[in-house]
Amino acid sequence: MAAKLIKGGEVSKQIREEISKEIAELKEKHGLTPGLATILVGEDPGSKVYVGQKEKACNNLGIYSDRKDLPDDISEAELLDLVQKLNQDPKIHGILVQLPLPKHINAERVIYAINPDKDVDCFHPVNVGKLVIGTGVFLPCTPHGIVELLRRSDITTDGKHVVVVGRSNIVGKPVANLMLQSPPGGNATVTLCHTGTKDLASYTKTADILIVAVGHPKTITADMVRDGVVVIDVGVNRIGKTEEGKAILAGDVDFDAVQEKASAITPVPGGVGPMTITMLMKNTVVAAKATIGD
Ligand code: NAP
Repeated sequence: MAAKLIKGGEVSKQIREEISKEIAELKEKHGLTPGLATILVGEDPGSKVYVGQKEKACNNLGIYSDRKDLPDDISEAELLDLVQKLNQDPKIHGILVQLPLPKHINAERVIYAINPDKDVDCFHPVNVGKLVIGTGVFLPCTPHGIVELLRRSDITTDGKHVVVVGRSNIVGKPVANLMLQSPPGGNATVTLCHTGTKDLASYTKTADILIVAVGHPKTITADMVRDGVVVIDVGVNRIGKTEEGKAILAGDVDFDAVQEKASAITPVPGGVGPMTITMLMKNTVVAAKATIGD
């Protein structure tokens, strides 16, 4: 039996409609327009696409977008100076520094310079700490997107065994933390796997919900999952090009084989992907609301 598809595009559209209403209300009742600054250093094509998508999402939702495209030889001091200016700018509620940064810039120093109240990516240690404690105002975009995907697909995590494969600071660690938070949401028993895990399949086979963020296609095959598992595939791997030169994408899971056993699964593309920018927009609105004590 083929699995139910968890469609990120549809869930994302639903959330954007809600955000759109929140923004209209903020403008009407408080004269407040949420603002997001995006900083792009250099010419990396992938980063340019991501920043472009974020700018477009802002424009579609009525969020003020201030895009700063900087040359890749900008000094760390100049970049830090720009971050400080944006920290002080009342029109800007969220600051996003597109990673990776060129090697001569210490990315950690730049991220740490962002005012935590404007850290809409939730990378600043203050916000990461609050996430772990369970008092986070901002939640990191991709992990929060996964929580919403599950919640809005009526898949409960309460009491389930969630196995996360991958321990990055962007996806694996934060999503594992969100899954183990006390209710509401989370309340799962969590296992976090990585390259040091011996016999990965012995863990993945016990998952009620399997979240995979490793960055290698077909890391999870059908023999590694049990019948009825829910699979969230975060991976985005470029595995070739179409005749027109468009990238062919695949996740980290052997989708065709695993969907025969799973009860629900996210496709790639069209699963987790659309959620990330939507949750960034949500965080920008949350940051704007916080300035009026809402
Ligand atoms: P990352 O920083 O490279 O981390 C990958 C993690 O997977 C590491 O912890 C690594 O373990 C682990 N790993 C790699 N191969 C493994 C294996 N065979 N068995 C067990 N663990 C393994 O990657 P990331 O930033 O988390 O991203 C992961 C994937 O998600 C990428 O394809 C990325 O493009 C995608 N992604 C998508 C979105 C979205 O919006 N859809 C957002 C973020 C990321 P070690 O720590 O031991 O090396």
